[in-house]
Amino acid sequence: MKIFDVVIVGAGPAGGQCARKLAQKGHRVLLVEQHINFQQNNFSSAGSVLSILKDYELPESVVGSYWNRLDVVTTKNHYRWHSENNQGVVLDFAKLRQCLTDQASQHGATVWMHHKYVGHEQQGDLVTVNLLNRTTKQSIVIQTKILVDATGPQHSIINRNQPQLPRYNIAFGLEYLIRADNQCHHPNTLTFLLGDYWMPKGYAWVFPMESGVYKVGVGAYITDAAKGTPSLAPYVKQLIRNYLQIEHYELIDKHGGVLRYCTPEHEQAYDGNIVAIGDALSCVNALGGEGIRHGMYCANLAAHYIDLTLYSGKSHFAAYRKAVLRKFNKTWKRCDAYAKAGYQLGTERKLDLVFGYLQKLPLPVIVDVLFHYRFGWLKWLLFKRLIKKLLRPLKKVIATVPTTPSP
Ligand SMILES: Cc1cc2nc3c(=O)[nH]c(=O)nc-3n(C[C@H](O)[C@H](O)[C@H](O)COP(=O)(O)OP(=O)(O)OC[C@H]3O[C@@H](n4cnc5c(N)ncnc54)[C@H](O)[C@@H]3O)c2cc1C
Repeated sequence: MKIFDVVIVGAGPAGGQCARKLAQKGHRVLLVEQHINFQQNNFSSAGSVLSILKDYELPESVVGSYWNRLDVVTTKNHYRWHSENNQGVVLDFAKLRQCLTDQASQHGATVWMHHKYVGHEQQGDLVTVNLLNRTTKQSIVIQTKILVDATGPQHSIINRNQPQLPRYNIAFGLEYLIRADNQCHHPNTLTFLLGDYWMPKGYAWVFPMESGVYKVGVGAYITDAAKGTPSLAPYVKQLIRNYLQIEHYELIDKHGGVLRYCTPEHEQAYDGNIVAIGDALSCVNALGGEGIRHGMYCANLAAHYIDLTLYSGKSHFAAYRKAVLRKFNKTWKRCDAYAKAGYQLGTERKLDLVFGYLQKLPLPVIVDVLFHYRFGWLKWLLFKRLIKKLLRPLKKVIATVPTTPSP
């Protein structure tokens, strides 16, 4: 039976990054992915900030396009920010995962595509893992010192033997990749559309890829599971027709996906020799559904603590959990509350109020608020508004005082 140091199930951004890091450190790594290639589940819009390229040493080849303009469209208003410099990227999700997998493999990792995890058993210091080769339909049994759950929203491994699962928030997304006249939309613009008209209990987006190619999608939070999944396709079509205003386009791909998350403190970060990373540990941010950067950050943390565990022969996963919570928990809770208030409760007037304020700030600051979750800017704007309000009566009094003394 083959024995590995680390088996990582799921070659998403988190799994790929974890495999890349651990293989670089010289460990015997196996990366397992159920799909035959990355086009099969090319579900993510993959918008992010510019720093993702430098922070994770990603090559230019995984970039679909850069963006230096941000548009937020509500039911009644249109807000726009622009900067001379690029502020972010829209990645080619398939190329990103292919690149991480290739680099892991170049550093010595074994990669098994089209293999599905079907079960495991912890036996002393080793975990026995059952896989299915989906091409030959053969069962494979292997052993590993550490098993990593990078199965994303499925949480397939870490939750397998849990008697009680956390209460997950669920959101669905549907995206069309279309080719259209490249005049139909400003090329370097990331556009978010908020409010019931565009997508009730969610939001819609238009992200640029290469010239004339756009990712057009909608996502909705499920507030009442009993009512089932809303039909998203009519909203995507409405977006194309009424926002982009195009009749004829080529539909290159149609894909969708799910987010299933809670706050990381309610997740099981590890269980014996099993470690969860990325969306399997709810690293995705509820506010904009951004999870690639955060999954990769979590993968780096996990790789560090797995490395320590393998070298010392002593589990360092309690410290891993602490590090994850330190990074994500407080901010993610706040973002979840804002997401619920903004998307789920339908407070459109408040959305206009917030974006009306934000409009006065330059794009790099907006990126700070929306992508780095530095909400101090909002507090500062509210504080300024309060001071203005308080000073208004005083100003009136001052206005009535004569400026020159009467004779
Ligand atoms: C519609 C949509 C749009 C999004 N847009 C953005 C965005 O613009 N920017 C952003 O940063 N994030 C975005 N996200 C979120 C982001 O894509 C995820 O947070 C990110 O992909 C999580 O990475 P991961 O590696 O943890 O999991 P995943 O990317 O979900 O990868 C998990 C992998 O595990 C594999 N797997 C699952 N079960 C098994 C099994 N039993 N055996 C073998 N393999 C298995 C899956 O096939 C998959 O490849 C979006 C998500 C959706 C659904």
